[in-house]
Amino acid sequence: MATDTVWVLGDQLDERLGHLADRDPAMTTVLMVVSRSKLASRRWGRQRAHFYIASMMRFAERLRSLGFTVDWRVAASMRAGLEGHLADHQPSEVVAMEPANRSGVALLERLGVRLVPSDQFLCHRDEFRAWADEHRRRDGSLLMEDFYRWQRRRLDILIEPDGSPVGGTWNLDQENRLPPPADGGDWPEAPLDPADEVDREVSSLLDGLDLTGGPWTGIWATDRAGALRRLEHFIDAALPGFGPYEDAVVSHHRHLNHSMLSPYLNNGLLHPAEVVEAVVEAHRRGGIPLNSAEGVIRQIIGWREYIAGLYWWHDADYIESNHFDNTLDVPPALLGGPTDMNCVSHVARWVAEDGWTHHIPRLMVIANLATLAGVQPRALVDWMWESFVDGAEWVMVPNVIGMGMYADGGTMSTKPYISGGNYLSKMTDFCSGCAFDRRRRVGADACPFTTLYWDFLDRHRDLLAGNHRLGRVYANLGRLDDLGAVRERAVEVRSRLAAGTL
Ligand SMILES: Cc1cc2nc3c(=O)[nH]c(=O)nc-3n(C[C@H](O)[C@H](O)[C@H](O)COP(=O)(O)OP(=O)(O)OC[C@H]3O[C@@H](n4cnc5c(N)ncnc54)[C@H](O)[C@@H]3O)c2cc1C
Repeated sequence: MATDTVWVLGDQLDERLGHLADRDPAMTTVLMVVSRSKLASRRWGRQRAHFYIASMMRFAERLRSLGFTVDWRVAASMRAGLEGHLADHQPSEVVAMEPANRSGVALLERLGVRLVPSDQFLCHRDEFRAWADEHRRRDGSLLMEDFYRWQRRRLDILIEPDGSPVGGTWNLDQENRLPPPADGGDWPEAPLDPADEVDREVSSLLDGLDLTGGPWTGIWATDRAGALRRLEHFIDAALPGFGPYEDAVVSHHRHLNHSMLSPYLNNGLLHPAEVVEAVVEAHRRGGIPLNSAEGVIRQIIGWREYIAGLYWWHDADYIESNHFDNTLDVPPALLGGPTDMNCVSHVARWVAEDGWTHHIPRLMVIANLATLAGVQPRALVDWMWESFVDGAEWVMVPNVIGMGMYADGGTMSTKPYISGGNYLSKMTDFCSGCAFDRRRRVGADACPFTTLYWDFLDRHRDLLAGNHRLGRVYANLGRLDDLGAVRERAVEVRSRLAAGTL
């Protein structure tokens, strides 16, 4: 008798979800396809490619142990994988869970696959749309804070019986913006898994591809048990101190108290509900300050779900937004080329070695530099998507186009997230070891961020000077007596950045 086929994509590795939850293993074949053309289509980061394929392979084994028949295929393309499967298995129908990205939905629809709703997020894209229609502000904009409070209430997370937030306030961000401690701080080390047979198989599958970054480090778990160990490690070792230093960056430690859980949340090895539950439970047991617990919950049920909702809420061409008409490619310094900018050189190395940095290097170093220098937003999306272990279109597009680069002209943020060297110096320790001087905007040793910051404001007066949140900044710009020299230095900085000689 023909069985049904469930096609499980590489970011849907959870048998408790809609595509598999009610399936009888004896009556279901699971199809998993690794597409060679997709692997060869971009210069993927090695950490990212390895993480996805190893996680898929181990999930296939897990499904076999649960009694499913798994048809594992390394095929020329997704289509070829499906066609081979149909020829060999002749299933009664092929079902999949809604993919997280538009291109995935379009592909599966073209191939005639029936889609079932995704329950990978706490707020489905249709629920988000309904929320957004109801909660637009008078000027048409949406606010993450509104969405977050709505999520907290409806999911009943840290809510008192009378509907007020535990602790009496919704937002503890003010407590969570400390600069790095003067002594550099003391941070937990990330667990490591030694490479095994599966890792060696993945490495040989990846052999011959043009990948970026260093060898597989074992910093990322690639199965459910490993992801759960990372969650436990986060709760025990990092969560108590998560809040206060959430926005700090230190050159000698890459993750501080950040959870490093985004890859597992994004590929299905962890579900957001269980992470939030673990955080709330730890807070209830005691020893976890409210600002740390609330800080993580805000990231997961607030920012993460808001970003996912926005991805589907915007039109498909949102990814092409380029408000400032930027034309530069991603500069070689971000790709790991030599640079005297201490912050960029550290962050580029972290991306190459781990396929990851925490939020602030992404925002304050990578996206800030790209915005100030005039990098094409789409090029930054593509590079970050290829290089980050947690990258995916749904999460990269709103974060880069909207939050990081203001390329949508302010749909997502009320002003561009930009800063010169002074703010970098406040929240990181990079400037003390740098060849450039954060206080100088002109001259050979002027900090490129500082020069480009003033030049950016100057070049985009027509688009930004009317923004009331930038009133003081434009007043300061008006007081500069060396603007001509700043403009000249900025031209030099941009051209050396593009040439990889800065
Ligand atoms: C320019 C830019 C690009 C980004 N690209 C990605 C990406 O490709 N994939 C990705 O998962 N996140 C992305 N983020 C968001 C955020 O930086 C990462 O989720 C976070 O750094 C992951 O590290 P962590 O797990 O230690 O996070 P923590 O600081 O421990 O936060 C906990 C969790 O909250 C979620 N989260 C927090 N902020 C966001 C956000 N803005 N968007 C989505 N989820 C969020 C993540 O799932 C994260 O695991 C990007 C942010 C920026 C500014």
